[in-house]
Amino acid sequence: MEAEIITIGDELLIGQTIDTNSAYFGQQLGSIGISISRRTAVSDKELAILSALSEAFSRVNLVIMTGGLGPTKDDITKKTLCQYYQCGYRRDVAVLSHLESLFASRGRLILETNKVQADVPESCETLHNAVGTAPGMWFDHQEKVLISLPGVPGEVYHLTEERVIPRLKSKFPLPTVEHRTLITLQKAESLLSRQLETFEASLPPHLSLAYLPSFNMVKLRLSQVSNSGETNGDIDEYFSKLQTAIPEDVFCLGDIDPALYLSNYLIKNNIRFTTAESCTGGWVAHRLMQAPGISAVYPGSLVAYANDVKQGELGVDPTVIEAHGAVSEPCALAMAKGALKKFQVDLAIATTGIAGPGGGTKEKPVGLVYIAVATNDEHFCKPFRLFGNREQIIQRSSNAALWMVKQLLKLPSDTAL
Ligand code: AMP
Ligand code: MG
Repeated sequence: MEAEIITIGDELLIGQTIDTNSAYFGQQLGSIGISISRRTAVSDKELAILSALSEAFSRVNLVIMTGGLGPTKDDITKKTLCQYYQCGYRRDVAVLSHLESLFASRGRLILETNKVQADVPESCETLHNAVGTAPGMWFDHQEKVLISLPGVPGEVYHLTEERVIPRLKSKFPLPTVEHRTLITLQKAESLLSRQLETFEASLPPHLSLAYLPSFNMVKLRLSQVSNSGETNGDIDEYFSKLQTAIPEDVFCLGDIDPALYLSNYLIKNNIRFTTAESCTGGWVAHRLMQAPGISAVYPGSLVAYANDVKQGELGVDPTVIEAHGAVSEPCALAMAKGALKKFQVDLAIATTGIAGPGGGTKEKPVGLVYIAVATNDEHFCKPFRLFGNREQIIQRSSNAALWMVKQLLKLPSDTAL
């Protein structure tokens, strides 16, 4: 089954707000077997909304829209939907009583302008919005369903998961969709796909493989679509084959942030760690902080940006910096070893490089980053040539740092965490 999305709001068109709602719908509806065939963003203008709506309904029978449901004058979605369905307003008793108790719980007086949020087009059913004031609206007219939700992402998530998905599942016979995802780091998508040619050719029609690349990381998602009633239990068999086809490249299994996987691994195995970061400015540490309970293995870390901090706090020998520069393998290794000693931990990660946009030379261009990892028994360092803007180089460096830890600790990819 196919659906279209219409997002409404001037802010989306001038680039003030990024349309994250559409991406979210793609994931959520995809997970119940509804694919999004088109996304349209329109301004808060009646004509724009009306034409987007009739065009969408000329192609599909399900449309989801967000935005324009606030109580202010610039939000005109409800008025426009009354026009589209040629109906008037009704005051929804359930929505009104929700608004009254919401305002009472916040110690605020409810005004008539607030009560207006309970006025909805006569031809819709409301979807209870427990986390906000504007209800969702469900229109079912001549076999065509329109779902209109507020724009606020938190309200969209609540309404979609609690109201929309269960209702869609009971209204439409949908296929079952299952996914298995794994994360790879440091290998380009094109190289992975070459390595996976035979595997992909062997996939039966109900299985498909998607590549989702970002910042030196590629998510590989194997999906299985089964029409109601039939079950093809072979997704796990093919997921194992996928892992076997790229044995060196799998960082971890599951659709999770690899930094979270690593920090959970460090906690589970009681590996105390630290970071000594120059060009990443604490970003590696920040990403490893996501796991609750990290304090058991993380005493702290150091952002060592200037040379005298590298020397004074980490004990990097000034002659190392004089001879090789701060962006060099000997400096990265000295930073990692210094941090290991300073924080008395089992593992240290150090970064030093040129994040740009300035500061690059012919010998040491922007994007050259040395990453060193050290334990009390072993250490090693690698140069990485990363590309992108400053933010992207920092993000890529942090993924490279995770990959380095995997190499050093021989991290398994399938630890159940
Ligand atoms: P509205 O329902 O139009 O009043 O939107 C309320 C808020 O939600 C605004 O601050 C928008 O920036 C935000 N918003 C609206 N549409 C989207 C969207 N498609 N993706 C992410 N945020 C949105
Ligand atoms: Mg708006």
